[in-house]
Amino acid sequence: MIFPWQQTQWQQIDQLISTGRLPHAMFLHGNEGLGKTDFAVSMAASVLCKQPDENHHACGVCSSCHLLAASTHPDLHYLKPTAKKNSTSKKPALSIRIEEIRDLCEKLNQTSQFSGYRVAILEQADQMTLAAANSLLKTLEEPGKGVLMLLVSARAQRLPITIRSRCQSLRFTVPDEATALNWLKTDGLKGENYKDEQLQQSLRQAYGSPLAALQQLEEAEQYQLLAEAMTASLSGKNALDYPAKLIRYNKVKILEAMLNWVSDLSRIVACGPEASIVNEAHRSMLKIRSKKIDPLRLYRFQDQLNFNLRHSSIAVNEQLLWENLLLSWDNL
Ligand SMILES: [Zn+2]
Repeated sequence: MIFPWQQTQWQQIDQLISTGRLPHAMFLHGNEGLGKTDFAVSMAASVLCKQPDENHHACGVCSSCHLLAASTHPDLHYLKPTAKKNSTSKKPALSIRIEEIRDLCEKLNQTSQFSGYRVAILEQADQMTLAAANSLLKTLEEPGKGVLMLLVSARAQRLPITIRSRCQSLRFTVPDEATALNWLKTDGLKGENYKDEQLQQSLRQAYGSPLAALQQLEEAEQYQLLAEAMTASLSGKNALDYPAKLIRYNKVKILEAMLNWVSDLSRIVACGPEASIVNEAHRSMLKIRSKKIDPLRLYRFQDQLNFNLRHSSIAVNEQLLWENLLLSWDNL
């Protein structure tokens, strides 16, 4: 996808392809939340497509575009930082490791499955270990014919200069407020109604990056919905009206937010009504709840949430999950 604020960059790519000067490696950099990886995917689609249009946008209908849409194109390789296997840490360090780079370079050295380009996208390329970066250097210096490597990073300075200097730079900048606002209203929020001031506020918090602002707004929406669900019984609403709505959002984030509610309640039970809590806006409701709480049930509920968080990668019927948890919360 090419976002409205990426037109200049696309014109550069269009020009490079038209004149046969597309380099074998490019470095896409700029703030977080500007859609750089989406742009890299569009570039990959463009060079892999069998019949791109006159501005070199992929056609979206050829066999190559179909494979790409299904994420099964054999000539597109995608790497992003991952945690080490067998890591037991709760928040393990993410990196792109030397084995992964070696494996990638080997694939790029093979002939293309479609006798065209072989493309690699390295998301958060700055998370490469030093050994991985050194291993990549060789392929950057002597790339095979038809290799296109797209390194993406929001922290350009962290990538070794030896790597950066071997890639053509493509910089992405924050759009002006009018462009960002217009995109948020028409495409980003898909008809959801927000006041201009709210959108401007989120844009400011996101340092002007439209995608980061969108993420914040969506998160705010999910936390607002969860707050309504958690306070439903006290405000005369039915908590079971909410599970069907909650399934639209990120399970882990909702579980973590629920844990905050439980910790808040535990703190008020343990330290009194003025205890320091996260959900300050709901203190009065939490105070009412704290008066008739069975501490044992509260701890069990906390365990239930932690259990679901630990096993969050297992697919479950989320509607049932939220129903169970909201009922448990109401019966504490
Ligand atoms: Zn196509």
